[in-house]
Amino acid sequence: MSYSIVNDGATPTPQSDAAKALLASVEDKQLYINGAYQAPVSGAYLDTTDPATGKVLARIANAGSEDVDQAVDAAREALKGPWATLTPLERSQVLNRIADLIDAHMDELCELEVLEQGKPFYVARWAEIPATANQFRFFAGQALSLDGNTVNTSINYQPEGKQVQAWTLREPVGVVAAVTPWNSPLILSAMKIAPALAAGCTVVHKPAELTSLSALRLAELITEAGVPAGVVNVVTGDGASCGSALTSHKGIDKIAFTGSTATGRAIVEASKKHLTRVTLELGGKSPALVLPDADLELAIPGIANGIFFNGGQVCVANSRTYIHRSIFDKVVQGIAAYAESMQMGHGLDQATQMGPVVSTAQAEKIEQFIEDAKAKGAKVLCGGVRLGANGTFIAPTVVTNTSTDMPIHCEEVFGPVLVAEPYDDIDEAMAWCNDNEYGLAASIWTQDLSAAHRLSRQMEAGTVWINCHSMFDASLPIGGMKMSGYGRDSGKQALDNYLEWKTVCAVL
Ligand code: NAD
Repeated sequence: MSYSIVNDGATPTPQSDAAKALLASVEDKQLYINGAYQAPVSGAYLDTTDPATGKVLARIANAGSEDVDQAVDAAREALKGPWATLTPLERSQVLNRIADLIDAHMDELCELEVLEQGKPFYVARWAEIPATANQFRFFAGQALSLDGNTVNTSINYQPEGKQVQAWTLREPVGVVAAVTPWNSPLILSAMKIAPALAAGCTVVHKPAELTSLSALRLAELITEAGVPAGVVNVVTGDGASCGSALTSHKGIDKIAFTGSTATGRAIVEASKKHLTRVTLELGGKSPALVLPDADLELAIPGIANGIFFNGGQVCVANSRTYIHRSIFDKVVQGIAAYAESMQMGHGLDQATQMGPVVSTAQAEKIEQFIEDAKAKGAKVLCGGVRLGANGTFIAPTVVTNTSTDMPIHCEEVFGPVLVAEPYDDIDEAMAWCNDNEYGLAASIWTQDLSAAHRLSRQMEAGTVWINCHSMFDASLPIGGMKMSGYGRDSGKQALDNYLEWKTVCAVL
């Protein structure tokens, strides 16, 4: 079976006027500060490219420290403004309106993400953009339930006729720097902006330089929903200038970061200066552990989808799988057949199941992992090649005969590449699962409930799925152990990231 790219180099016609306009001319996109667009002080811009065709779609402003200063000032000022005086019900209603506007602009937002990121339309339409709206809906609910508590203290001080009373308050942490990656731009942004707004914070959002167009559009919709100017600002640009100016800024109270572990480390360094609070959602190398009694009708497509969805550019992707030797051949052949049946092409083609990876640099990095593994004796069962004349397509790939210390086996590839190995002993397989610096997610495939319970406790991962992989909901916290970061996005736990505790102790 050989792979091919359907209509290589061609761009199917989009539905939305916004996507049509993007394809019609290359415009300069400005910074969104204090409810209005403004040009970067330096006048510098970066290209945004469609990875399926190599076509330049737009140029985004490359913000420097003076632009970041203005955005942070706007957010600090907005903390004092009408946003702070809204009742929880009013804030909740605004968040619900944002969700409704996302739904109303569904096709447009999906097509923007398809064009700048390369994802298939169905990934945006049926998973990521509805989930973006649902983050705002979920945190609209959470905004209604912010509360502290009264505390019975043991303080031994009781002046005549008086009592010691103590209670706690929850207050917004202040100005949030939300720094987000390119793989799933809007949903990962919403996981930070929605709880920050529910808590009453203001935000300076720094989207990834490859995928900033949808973030700018989201900011417009947030304004349209009734969020006052300055509450959500967007500074676009590269990590080295814009990102580091933002994360080392004195006016930032909290950094909410999703991205690579290397950048996470740089952000922790930057945060030291002002002891800025930080939460980190970082990389992963998530295992799928397949027991001999697994339901293979679930496991084969489930594991294939867990690695090939969005071209493997998913932080929790099951990029390694350990399969009991008795069923190993059947499972890997099934996954390879699934891979080879996938239609690859431009994401705007509704039939596309896998698009390009996000950039030439990313495609080259993935190719290097595969070439290195081949040179060290790994066997490529399917894929393993770059495809097409124009875009950055990597064929869905299954590799076996690796050792646990090969880079392809232990490092994050962030592409459509699955490492599959057989095991004989479950304890040895569990040791392989945990023998990795990351601890983001894992899945266990078995019909034995007690084995599933026992193994899920042993797994060193922030999320463990049983007989499924990559199941998300706004109510479920997501985040990592070990080098996958700290703190949780999504779920009611995420609200804590954006709130301070204040203790009040009084003699009354
Ligand atoms: P990245 O770390 O290169 O960039 C992420 C963001 O950080 C971008 O906006 C970038 O411009 C900015 N940045 C870069 N250098 C910076 C600096 N020195 N200071 C401040 N900001 C800086 O990550 P990426 O390549 O965009 O995304 C892929 C990575 O994200 C993968 O490692 C993936 O696993 C991870 N990810 C994690 C999760 C999760 O929930 N754990 C989710 C999605 C992606």
